[in-house]
Amino acid sequence: MGAHVPIPIYERSIGQRLAFEGEQCTNCGTIAFPPKAACPGCQNDGLETTQLAGKGVVYSYTVIGKGGAPPEFTAQTSAEGRYVVAIVELDEGPRITAQVTDVDPDDVEIGMPVSGDIRRIYEEEGVVRYGFKFTPASD
Ligand SMILES: [Zn+2]
Repeated sequence: MGAHVPIPIYERSIGQRLAFEGEQCTNCGTIAFPPKAACPGCQNDGLETTQLAGKGVVYSYTVIGKGGAPPEFTAQTSAEGRYVVAIVELDEGPRITAQVTDVDPDDVEIGMPVSGDIRRIYEEEGVVRYGFKFTPASD
């Protein structure tokens, strides 16, 4: 999830945007998410699809206010105010950038358990973009 993603790139990457589908290296066992051309650990290109649980903890985060939001998030900040963008460390190891939502930004903290869901991210060029957002884990 990030700034502008052209429609063809969005469509090519739809699988990794709508499922926590990563890849596991057949050589060293490193798990990559989103999928990579080669293992980020040993550069082996033997990677097998693996399903991730979509759970993790907040590794780091920032709060985006109205002045700091990229243009595609202007509607969101107008409707909801500030939002949290975090680096989430998944239980399987990979760290991904995503919003943490359904929580007061002041209540987010490093190490907080979170769980990911598919959510509407923004609409651009007439296409609603979906991807992961995280919410505080219930347990
Ligand atoms: Zn490897």
